[in-house]
Amino acid sequence: MSDCIFCKIANKEIDSKIVYEDESAVAFRDLSPQAPEHILIIPKKHIGGVNELTGGDAALMGHIMAEALPKLAKDLNIAESGYRVVINSGEDGQQTVKHLHVHLIGGRKMTWPPG
Ligand code: 5GP
Ligand code: ZN
Repeated sequence: MSDCIFCKIANKEIDSKIVYEDESAVAFRDLSPQAPEHILIIPKKHIGGVNELTGGDAALMGHIMAEALPKLAKDLNIAESGYRVVINSGEDGQQTVKHLHVHLIGGRKMTWPPG
């Protein structure tokens, strides 16, 4: 999508600190980190959010959640200490960027409930 900031990051039209990339996903550091480690993992193809997912995205999301994310957590050395995985969805979920992204947040003790 031409006016999507995360599509531009995936296409390297906008600079970001990329920490992981493969054929279908890319992960980069959040511009405004909420913890010592705050990574956004996105599908390279534009998906607006969780509501736009279809069964055809199952393999892609399985790859992100079951392969890319645990590898990143391990590489960042937070797999054992723990971390939080967040997908904000829609207005009440405080989704601000309308390209599906998985927050991987760690390096400090989280609080609960989230605000
Ligand atoms: P959301 O609130 O939609 O779940 O999360 C969007 C996240 O994207 C926010 O944590 C915000 O800091 C981050 N973000 C917004 N624009 C940019 C950008 O241009 N580059 C990077 N690296 N992160 C961004
Ligand atoms: Zn996009």
